[in-house]
Amino acid sequence: MVPWEPVIGLEVHVQLATRTKLFCGCEVSSADAPNSRVCPVCLGLPGALPVLNARAVDLAILSALALGCTVHRRSVFARKNYFYPDLPKGYQITQHDRPLATGGVLEWMGAGGPRRVRIARLHLEEDAGKSRHEGPEGPEGRTAVDFNRSGAPLAEIVTEADLDGAAAAADFFERLRELLVAVGATQGSMEEGHLRCDANVSLRPAGSDVLGTPVEVKNLNSFRYLERALDHEIERQAAILDAGGRVEHETRSWDLETGRTLAMRSKEEAHDYRFFREPDLPPLDVTAERVAALRARLPELPEARRARLAASFGLPEAAARQISGDAAAAAYFEAVVSAGLAPRQAANWITGEIARLLKEARLTIDEAPVSPCALARLVRQVEAGTISHGMAKEVLERMWRTGDDPEAIVASEGLARIADEDHLGAIVRQAVNANPKAVAQYRGGKTLVFGFFVGQVMKATGGKADPAIVNRLLARELEKA
Ligand code: ADP
Ligand code: MG
Ligand code: ZN
Repeated sequence: MVPWEPVIGLEVHVQLATRTKLFCGCEVSSADAPNSRVCPVCLGLPGALPVLNARAVDLAILSALALGCTVHRRSVFARKNYFYPDLPKGYQITQHDRPLATGGVLEWMGAGGPRRVRIARLHLEEDAGKSRHEGPEGPEGRTAVDFNRSGAPLAEIVTEADLDGAAAAADFFERLRELLVAVGATQGSMEEGHLRCDANVSLRPAGSDVLGTPVEVKNLNSFRYLERALDHEIERQAAILDAGGRVEHETRSWDLETGRTLAMRSKEEAHDYRFFREPDLPPLDVTAERVAALRARLPELPEARRARLAASFGLPEAAARQISGDAAAAAYFEAVVSAGLAPRQAANWITGEIARLLKEARLTIDEAPVSPCALARLVRQVEAGTISHGMAKEVLERMWRTGDDPEAIVASEGLARIADEDHLGAIVRQAVNANPKAVAQYRGGKTLVFGFFVGQVMKATGGKADPAIVNRLLARELEKA
């Protein structure tokens, strides 16, 4: 059988992090009572006129620049006409044949090597309202519409069909979110639907350069759903092609319950949107100065930071990725390193214990009650042999709760490692004398019982005995005939 090769292109809608909507002064908010954030403009009342939100344009330009797109000096708004209850004007204001930006690329280091996905375009458009279905399906049920989201600012980002699998698509979606959050373009909450993805997927015989018929799977709003839906859709198409069939050019939806995609509508019967230029808005002119000023505002981008952390600190890929995803985590890491800790140690503590404590407390790293400097001092006590690694975790939890210095906690709680040979020697002798059977076993060649004796000493010292010294003293004691 021919192996099929998937070809995938994504269309991602990103809610831009403005206070107000794209064409009116209503606040963008999902928490408020239905239809409490509306006005004649976003309700589409006759005679109401749109006024473009300059901040939304800035955020879209920032996104385009972060993706290496060309930002066009002039772009044009258009009306996309269709009927749906959540679209009060009967058309959506979007950009069609003259988008804000084109021709970018997103590159990242994937699990299997470097990845590169071209960005076809990025344009501005308004969001629709939300329909809410209540009661049973059919005439007995009711559908209510909430227009709070109507007119919220979106950037639509369309990729070229450069993705070759479900996992790569999900990876791209995650990297895109990370990038857009890093430049402040979106709050990036997946729960609130700030990023929504439509996936186009076709199959072709491996090695062929002719594209197959694509199917569009709508509304995949989490990384995991995107991957699962594509996995399923790829399997479905392969089964059709293997049986000698033909894939319909259609739009499908993904059903969370069954994990399958379901036919929604055929592309042959796709609506003609009758796009035409939006007469109520002038063309969007962007000056070179504005673009340059925004470019100067771009922070270090996550992928560049990952490469820098991996290269200059010799971090393993996974740790570099985890730390570089978040500017605050990277800053924390660099502060710990400049406080004197070895980079790998710092990374281990941050991605391990610190990440765990943050998650438990639902805090972000810039809210961590333990400063980078305090963490470095704690770990230095492990390196100096004052406390064990296990003990350091306990001390960290106390620092987290009390805000006390690591040195003070270690001193006051008597947690310091016991390295006094006379003291440990007595405990070792006691463990040996109290267990004559185990001693006989050891001397009879069962050297595994050595661990048992170590355990006895650790128990007697509350885990504080210096393991190297215990090993040496125990060996000496047990070898005594
Ligand atoms: P449409 O006008 O139907 O939305 P576009 O040409 O704008 O189609 O493409 C939409 C998305 O579909 C893009 O991400 C594009 O890369 C992707 N795409 C187009 N053709 C294919 C194909 N044969 N297989 C997979 N993806 C495709
Ligand atoms: Mg499309
Ligand atoms: Zn409004």
